[in-house]
Amino acid sequence: MVSLQKWKEARPCLIDNILATLDPLSHRVCQCGKQVVVRCLDCLPLSFLCAECDIAVHTRFVLHNREAVTGGFLQPSSEFHKPIVRLLPVQRPDHVCDCPAGNVEVSPGAIVALVTINGCYNLALPVVSCTSCDLMWSPSVKDILGSGYWPGTLNFCTLFSMDVFQSFYDIKKAAPGMSLKAFVKMLDERTAHFGRTGRISADAFSKSFVEWSAV
Ligand SMILES: [Zn+2]
Ligand SMILES: [Zn+2]
Ligand SMILES: [Zn+2]
Repeated sequence: MVSLQKWKEARPCLIDNILATLDPLSHRVCQCGKQVVVRCLDCLPLSFLCAECDIAVHTRFVLHNREAVTGGFLQPSSEFHKPIVRLLPVQRPDHVCDCPAGNVEVSPGAIVALVTINGCYNLALPVVSCTSCDLMWSPSVKDILGSGYWPGTLNFCTLFSMDVFQSFYDIKKAAPGMSLKAFVKMLDERTAHFGRTGRISADAFSKSFVEWSAV
């Protein structure tokens, strides 16, 4: 009862403060001094970024979920996700041959849909190549598994983070009646919530999950 009363007393203060966070944010400046265009809660404590810092930071941290600051308000938007070429975060070599350093180029290869606990991300597999001898590297099954992903299809069109399988495994243990469809639906909601696109196939999730648990 005491605890209920305390929550009741705190409520107006919580409401005021949550409303205050919805105030126009256009007056905010990035740490570099330029005008803010996105907020990224995964970048806390430096969550407000200008366009240039956004690209610099999120070309590297591609799984961060950002909100666009448009007209002073925050909204998830798929539009502003587009300009950045986003490569699957996967272990990769810093050279592919014995040519002198400085000839290495990292570029986007085949498109891949990565499914994590935050839903689906459309990314590209990285290709590391040498500009003088044209030798190329792209991730093998070993690199994919070593980076914490499980193939959803054998040609790597879809990858699941093993963490999302672990989460489903844990929730099934706590609540055996939990349906796989409901879990996948929750992941689809996460995808849309963060302004991304893509649907997760419950069938692919199920088949891949069974393989993962068997192994
Ligand atoms: Zn971030
Ligand atoms: Zn900046
Ligand atoms: Zn070379």
